[in-house]
Amino acid sequence: MSLTEQSATELLQLLNQGEISSVELTQSYLDQIEAKDSQIGAFLRIDAKAALARAADIDTRRQSGKPLGKLAGLPVAVKDVLCDTETKTTCASRMLENFRPPYDSTVVAKLKAADAVLIGRTNMDEFAMGGSTENSAFQITRNPWDLERAPGGSSGGAAACVAGGMAPLSIGTDTGGSIRQPAGLCGVVGLKPTYGRVSRYGLVAFASSLDQVGPLANTTEDAALLLETIAGHDPLDSTSLDVPVPEYTATINRPLEGLRIGVVREHFATGLDPEVESAVRDAIKVYESLGATVKEISLPHSKYAVATYYVIAPSEASSNLARYDGVHFGHRHSQLSVPDPTSNSLVEMYRCSRSEGFGPEVKRRIMLGAYALSAGYYDAYYLKALKVRRLIRQDFDTAFEQVDLIASPVTAEPAFKIGQLADDPLSMYLVDLYTVSANLAGLPGVSLPCGFSSSGLPIGLQLQAKPLAEETLLRGAHMYQKATDWQSRKLDQLK
Ligand code: GLN
Repeated sequence: MSLTEQSATELLQLLNQGEISSVELTQSYLDQIEAKDSQIGAFLRIDAKAALARAADIDTRRQSGKPLGKLAGLPVAVKDVLCDTETKTTCASRMLENFRPPYDSTVVAKLKAADAVLIGRTNMDEFAMGGSTENSAFQITRNPWDLERAPGGSSGGAAACVAGGMAPLSIGTDTGGSIRQPAGLCGVVGLKPTYGRVSRYGLVAFASSLDQVGPLANTTEDAALLLETIAGHDPLDSTSLDVPVPEYTATINRPLEGLRIGVVREHFATGLDPEVESAVRDAIKVYESLGATVKEISLPHSKYAVATYYVIAPSEASSNLARYDGVHFGHRHSQLSVPDPTSNSLVEMYRCSRSEGFGPEVKRRIMLGAYALSAGYYDAYYLKALKVRRLIRQDFDTAFEQVDLIASPVTAEPAFKIGQLADDPLSMYLVDLYTVSANLAGLPGVSLPCGFSSSGLPIGLQLQAKPLAEETLLRGAHMYQKATDWQSRKLDQLK
């Protein structure tokens, strides 16, 4: 088995035992990127020289017996939305095409402190708005399982680089499903932590009350390892939870005897692809065989989740993105680089800078959000959405009195074709049916492979748990992976 086919946990062992060097490992991934990424398009930028230099430095420190961080020598790819002083942070937008952050995000700082090798920056939908990675201003990303299909989004590059064997671990962000949905469509593991579990400091904000940073990996164990590294309280993020981080990797092997799994009645309605339904139902049977009990539950307000999300997320986005005016931040229209404050040219400069800097989907969200927040409509849209959000959260509170985990599909269908939904925003938004509720309620959720369609596309299973129950979530996912082998099935082209 080649190095890039092994799990991050296995690779870390090889590194720690001195069987391989970080330079050798980093080079293997760079070779994979070189060979495959011109077709897949997962990465926006690679700095091979810097990655190899860092790997060499870690190897030297290891040889001299110096203490090393938790991920010492392991390559990690980062979605191009988290600030890192050593590279640009573009959010796949013309608006930030040349933005070089003056500080590291907490997640990037933690990865550096853990001695990870930051191997490259991954493609995404512009400002994380989208579900296919087609909204990137720079390139599209293709699904490694079928190059005609989308990898999902917005963390499409993060999922595709792991699925394509171009990084063992990657970091994504999830505001309405952007880690779990691409993980599901690309056949990898993706975890959205509890809101506040991972610091958002230095994450370019999309919708601040929903955004979370989380891991993507080949196995649940790897995802647990990465989550342990990036989670924790951060005084620089006022919404960060001041709760100790458990050692997730230490408890994931506990048997599932007595675990209560909820199956939501409303989740198995019309529109769900029969192959997806049967893969998810089979997964639930596996849980029963592992000693879990299964119970049908109801989330009566779940049918409002997509509508609620698409009021709240654009509202927050329209406010967060106001800072990109060519003066405070972002692309500035070149003809008017020195605004004349006595004329209208300042307003004109804002207008031109924003029209040129933002792509169509971002503009759509800004308009939707500004409308929902405007004086005459605030109560009817934004305030109403906040009330429904509360009802959705209460449904989950009631459900988690009866069950420990909720099992569901990640998406109603496997990966769609590139271009298939691009001109139809409503259909694209409906892809988020199963994922947005976790963000609205602040819950952790994980997506993991649970089968393949007859055309060979991966199918994802989603597990959700109550806030801060990542231990149970990871254990539930890991024990299923131990009992099945979907995650190890890779097409020859992926090797
Ligand atoms: N697809 C959703 C959207 O377009 C989710 C995006 C995300 O989680 N960043 O808003």
